[in-house]
Amino acid sequence: MTVALELFRSVPRYVAARAVGERLPGLIAGPLAPLRLVNRDPPEPPAEGWARVRPRLSGVCGSDLATISGRSSFYFSPLVSMPFVPGHEVVGDLGEDLDGLPAGTRVVLNPVLGCEARGLPLCPGCAAGSVDRCDRITVGHVAAGLQTGYCADTGGGWSGMLVAHRSQVHPVPDTMTDRQAVLVEPMACAIHAALRCRPEPGDTVLVVGAGTVGLLVLLALREFTEAGRITVVAKHAAQRDLARRFGASEVVAPAGAVTALRRSLRAFRLRPERGTPFLLGGVDGAIDCVGTRASLDLALRTTRAGGRVVLAGMPEGGADLAPVWFRELEVVGAYASGTETVNGDRRRAMDLAIELASELELDASATVEYPLDRWREAIDHALSAGRLGTMKVAFQPQEG
Ligand SMILES: [Zn+2]
Repeated sequence: MTVALELFRSVPRYVAARAVGERLPGLIAGPLAPLRLVNRDPPEPPAEGWARVRPRLSGVCGSDLATISGRSSFYFSPLVSMPFVPGHEVVGDLGEDLDGLPAGTRVVLNPVLGCEARGLPLCPGCAAGSVDRCDRITVGHVAAGLQTGYCADTGGGWSGMLVAHRSQVHPVPDTMTDRQAVLVEPMACAIHAALRCRPEPGDTVLVVGAGTVGLLVLLALREFTEAGRITVVAKHAAQRDLARRFGASEVVAPAGAVTALRRSLRAFRLRPERGTPFLLGGVDGAIDCVGTRASLDLALRTTRAGGRVVLAGMPEGGADLAPVWFRELEVVGAYASGTETVNGDRRRAMDLAIELASELELDASATVEYPLDRWREAIDHALSAGRLGTMKVAFQPQEG
């Protein structure tokens, strides 16, 4: 048996959680959360090429919090199978030999459950190395699930044991700490998002949000692009300090963002009869790392005509698309990660992320770990991470 945090379908709790939103995080992590701690049989490898993985650390992601608090779109409902164990940001130990990797190898996961993992002929996305664009995430060897952590058959990182396919696992160097390793998957997503923005040398870029995704996107922009001035919108004082340390040219609070950009870009600011002001002129590219209506509206309203807006946070919906039409914006998504072109080379984002995360200098307070049985505290902490200056809350499933 293994201990696991399981997400189950509960329509009344879902509706209540949605109504409460994130204004009362204590209530979300309390009686309303559709999560329960269970003892269950560990998942079995479903086919050749799969192995057990014992998670050492597994992060709590913004998309997990959106799912738990009922803010994720119903669009995703056919792309998951219930009940599932969340947790897709994982560093763990292989439970058995796997295709050249000996038992005990420390690995991180690309959680996407694409054609190779499912034992299927490759779809066009997978064939091109972009497993993030897989079309077959509901069929094959395991149940529907866009990723490990949303699939009923694979288990997830918030448990003592999951199963993973060889195509998902990436060994990490011994010199890398577990705390760096648990940031590899979000770092790979951030690299993908930064490169989807495609800034030209010297381009101005706006990063909306300074949580884990925003900070790692900022780092990736500095490492893999020649973006010029980067403005970061950060809600909390602790995040503003981190954003400056991670290479922001300018850090602003959400309320002052339009004014600050108007000044630094010499753009025109207009005030509509209702809603927030917008710019004529603006940044060359913007990356929304939050996914709320307000964050996407801000990105759309401050990007110059013909500019590019990347959706890096799972979008809640409801944003006003008028500027997309009027300013002829390119709006693109950035989901998970695949293969990127860097300096003419095709590299897996996970490999780039392992290199970059190895160099991350993390304060002792940047990541906080909880045993599974303190999950309510962990979720509460994750919901307040921005204010507390915590970059990552993670479960430590082998403790407690
Ligand atoms: Zn595929």
